[in-house]
Amino acid sequence: MEGTRTNQRLSTAEFDLDGMLGGLAKWLRIVGFDTAFPRFTPRGGRWFVTAVKSKGGLLTVWVSCSRPLDQLKEVLAQADLSLDPCLFFSRCVLCNEPVVEVPKEDVAGKVPDKIFDLVSCFHQCPACGRVYWVGSHLERTKERLAMAGIPLDLHRLAVEEAIWGEPF
Ligand SMILES: [Zn+2]
Repeated sequence: MEGTRTNQRLSTAEFDLDGMLGGLAKWLRIVGFDTAFPRFTPRGGRWFVTAVKSKGGLLTVWVSCSRPLDQLKEVLAQADLSLDPCLFFSRCVLCNEPVVEVPKEDVAGKVPDKIFDLVSCFHQCPACGRVYWVGSHLERTKERLAMAGIPLDLHRLAVEEAIWGEPF
């Protein structure tokens, strides 16, 4: 159904990020990965991401770059993952919760009037209440990823209709 994103679309890769990696945490959530931050010790079954060489264990990504998008590139390479644009903005950027579709009337007064008039489908974070919708920020996100040298499967993006988020 057009405009529907279900939890089955959520990525299976999960990350715990060491302190000082807040910028990377935001980007990992934007592209749809379950990302806990800050977590200072590894947990079983989840990738642990750290800049500290002496930390970590089996499922660990060590980042050496300082810019979040360069760190994202390091994570994708070391964890052997690619980005699925269909998962972008499937989680709250602030608290990592999967967003859920909500009736349009539920967001009246919570989004700008212009957005409310133009957009028919809204998603919301069940934890913090932040509202997400389809917007031009998706193009900006793709551009920033491309400029950082992170490839996207644009054919897959083109055949998917439901991409969510709000400007950040
Ligand atoms: Zn939230």
